[in-house]
Amino acid sequence: MKRTYWQLTTLLVGALLTSQASAFGGLNLDLNKLISAGKNLNEASKDISEPEEISIGEGMASVLLGTAPLVKSDTLQTYVNQVGRYLSLQTERPDLPWHFGVLDSDSVNAFATPGGHIFITSGLLRKMHSEAELAGVLSHEIAHVLRKHHLVAMKKAGGMGFLTDVASIAVDQKGGGGYAGKELSKNLISGMKEILVRGLDKDDEYEADRMGVVIATRAGYDSYGLPAVLQMLDGLSNTSDVSLLFSTHPAPESRMDTLSGVMQSKFDHYQGQSVNDRFRRLMTNSAKK
Ligand SMILES: [Zn+2]
Repeated sequence: MKRTYWQLTTLLVGALLTSQASAFGGLNLDLNKLISAGKNLNEASKDISEPEEISIGEGMASVLLGTAPLVKSDTLQTYVNQVGRYLSLQTERPDLPWHFGVLDSDSVNAFATPGGHIFITSGLLRKMHSEAELAGVLSHEIAHVLRKHHLVAMKKAGGMGFLTDVASIAVDQKGGGGYAGKELSKNLISGMKEILVRGLDKDDEYEADRMGVVIATRAGYDSYGLPAVLQMLDGLSNTSDVSLLFSTHPAPESRMDTLSGVMQSKFDHYQGQSVNDRFRRLMTNSAKK
């Protein structure tokens, strides 16, 4: 693990960003209303503890960092961390050790690992036009973490062997071994790589899109940031820079269609919303009290 990455993220605890979503202009979007109740999440991952989830994610993050280094710009990394951490505070798992990093890669993609490590490539960042678009993509990845999509997929693929390997991480942790990621078994690492290359279930991607829109909106961003990125992706031809993203996700067009079916006109009020409006909304609200 790159030392600068950890040093950076410890600087970014965002002490000022403790407001709850409810403080923002009466925005009362219940995540659960937009999430299908079809999956029994607790059942699927109940035998994996949160510390184990975090250790698995650290191991997976180091695999990702082995494929591309972080962009060497503290300013950029700090900025993306601030946006990401603020978004994570709008969720039901604000206390996970969230880390956000920009990978130095022309490939257009973003990744999440269990426990709260999120990466976006510089190739994707360069194609964006606003912080709302960045927030939309980070929120999509945050949703994968909240719903434990990768964890459940790895468990499904690895079966009992996966759980045995996870149990060995727990033993290592009790031994006080510090960074548990280095103890990950070959099985676990190959399982992670497979999920990264093969992708998640399409339903998981649609769910992350729905939740992503809600999280970004809660944080005060234009709800249409993520749809705008999907539209941009839809306009790209299938070059090597986007081939992995295209092969691991449903087509951008069908993601847009699915999202607009869910969003309908419910989010129109938040179109054009900007984080710059937060101060004004908060002051207006407190004046009413
Ligand atoms: Zn995704």
